[in-house]
Amino acid sequence: MKYILVVCDGMPDIRGRRGMTPLEYAETPNFDSFCSVGQSGTMDVVKKGVAPGSDTGHLSLFGYDLKKHYPGRGPLEAIGAGLKLNEGDVAFRANIATVDKKFNVIDRRAGRIRGDLSELEDAVNEIDIGTDFVFKHTIDHRGTLILRGAKSKVSDTDPHKERVKVLKAKGNKKVAAAVNLFTKKCYEKLSKLELNKERQLPANMILLRGAGLYKKVPSFYEMHNLKGACIATVALVKGVAKFCGLDVLRVEGATGTEDTNIHGKFSTAIDSLEKYDFVLVNIKATDNFGHDGNFEGKVKMIEKIDSAFEIFKGILSDSIVVLTADHSTPVEKKVHTADSVPICISGNGIKPDHTEKFSEYSCAKGKLKRMRGNELIKKLKEFSD
Ligand code: ZN
Ligand code: ZN
Repeated sequence: MKYILVVCDGMPDIRGRRGMTPLEYAETPNFDSFCSVGQSGTMDVVKKGVAPGSDTGHLSLFGYDLKKHYPGRGPLEAIGAGLKLNEGDVAFRANIATVDKKFNVIDRRAGRIRGDLSELEDAVNEIDIGTDFVFKHTIDHRGTLILRGAKSKVSDTDPHKERVKVLKAKGNKKVAAAVNLFTKKCYEKLSKLELNKERQLPANMILLRGAGLYKKVPSFYEMHNLKGACIATVALVKGVAKFCGLDVLRVEGATGTEDTNIHGKFSTAIDSLEKYDFVLVNIKATDNFGHDGNFEGKVKMIEKIDSAFEIFKGILSDSIVVLTADHSTPVEKKVHTADSVPICISGNGIKPDHTEKFSEYSCAKGKLKRMRGNELIKKLKEFSD
């Protein structure tokens, strides 16, 4: 059997001031007709009461047990940025920041620095802390740092707020000492950079957070006996997919923003079923509208996805399509919440439960009831027999 899993990132919402969720408010004829020929329910993507990140959310959807297999955010970001990790490496998320002489954080994003920062990247990589590391600038003020073979993770140096000092890393003595030496030498080295000469907020510090120890996990194929692929633009989601051994497919015009090429993503997913058994498609922009608190934007984005979704009608006779999300990002909360997400599974002669509308509330009455994210693939296999 062939499976396509469409994940509308952060799309689910709550009934707020308008009395309707964006999904209820939107015109979604294709979602709704898909729903009427499938089975619906709700899903706690990680588990009840836990707000998933896009990393824990997708790792669960791929059928992994987070307790056993979640390596922390750092390694997933690093893999998503195209770096190769080896067993025992420790990876961090990094922020390019501004500090004063006393190491007080003035701006955690160095004035939202952006553009080509290869001068800074090279300078950071020249720092000698007595242990092997790699720093990579990813996008804007963000980056990732890997301590090769460090074997123990340590606490953040990023205080996560401004007007306080850069924190001392704690944990394994040797690793913490190397990280703290990195902080000190970073300031010395970066303060002299050409690019900082005219900056009001010099990029003179790399703040580290989210350390994780990389350990190989059983591949998606080993777990499910399915050849898997993923279509996503967000580095973190790509990182999770690669971590699980899925191939990441490129789609022309896919951007992760509202003008992304949704049709291209969906048709690529369908075409790739020739080679793969399972394809996950992530559409990111719905989450961005949730974080921005933009109800209208989210509604429009949902309608765009719905319009492209029509393409799946043609493959339901011999494959299974799932429509769901990795978590809710309600516009009135602007953060990920623990609310369960709607799910609908259709195709391959699945007996419909006659749910009329794809929404948070109507799917809750469907036949699938309430399931857990990491049970999804097992459930799909039950439908394939
Ligand atoms: Zn997400
Ligand atoms: Zn988000």
